[in-house]
Amino acid sequence: MTDSLRPLVAGNWKMNGSRAMTRDLLVSLGAALDGAGGAPCEIVVCPPAPYLADAARALASIPGIALGAQDCHAAASGAHTGDIAAGMLADLGCLYTIVGHSERRGDHGEASATVKAKAAAAIAAGLGAIVCVGETGADRAAGRTEAVVSEQLDGSLPDGAGAESCVIAYEPVWAIGTGQTPTPAEIGEVHASIRARLDRHLACGVRILYGGSVKPENAAAILAIAHVGGALVGGASLDADAFWSICRSCP
Ligand code: PEP
Repeated sequence: MTDSLRPLVAGNWKMNGSRAMTRDLLVSLGAALDGAGGAPCEIVVCPPAPYLADAARALASIPGIALGAQDCHAAASGAHTGDIAAGMLADLGCLYTIVGHSERRGDHGEASATVKAKAAAAIAAGLGAIVCVGETGADRAAGRTEAVVSEQLDGSLPDGAGAESCVIAYEPVWAIGTGQTPTPAEIGEVHASIRARLDRHLACGVRILYGGSVKPENAAAILAIAHVGGALVGGASLDADAFWSICRSCP
């Protein structure tokens, strides 16, 4: 069992922003990075798809920040109106894509089998797949957190996933955008069980991010928990100062 790769902090902008905001936010992050003399962790920003090209242009002069997408289709090409193939994202300069975010599982009825196919497509296209799993509030209240997370993990992890191609994001659905977070002990418990499960899949060393209301105020405590290999940040990633402060909180 290893947790040896650099921590990764990814910003999921969701369906927010504009072209101007994309440029401004990345310029601010670039200035912060310059001022610090380098990146304190691996940093990824995931703007909405229409702004990926603008972001790629801005990031061409900011080597410490990588580009990611929020989703991809499982097929390499074809009759899928409105969808985006992983190869197209790679062509735009993306290094990562999120798959299986709870908002996609919920809003678009994506089952783990679909998430697995998307993750496999991302990896085949040379992208790192950030695979999201997490229980609802009802699951947790029913004592089913570990069962639900394990089931999602087993169903969503593509064959042959490894530390270089895959990242897991544990995101309790009830913590996303609510300001609520599990206790450090609860986060540690789920991350340890994900780590044990990944070891069974021979996916040793895969980073396990925590996501759900990560803010500058709680980032250092969360990022210090055993087996937490970084953070997936929603709301706070729309503010350059807040996102940078979270990145700087990496141990
Ligand atoms: C997310 O949607 O991935 C997320 C973690 O959101 P927030 O940080 O706003 O809770």
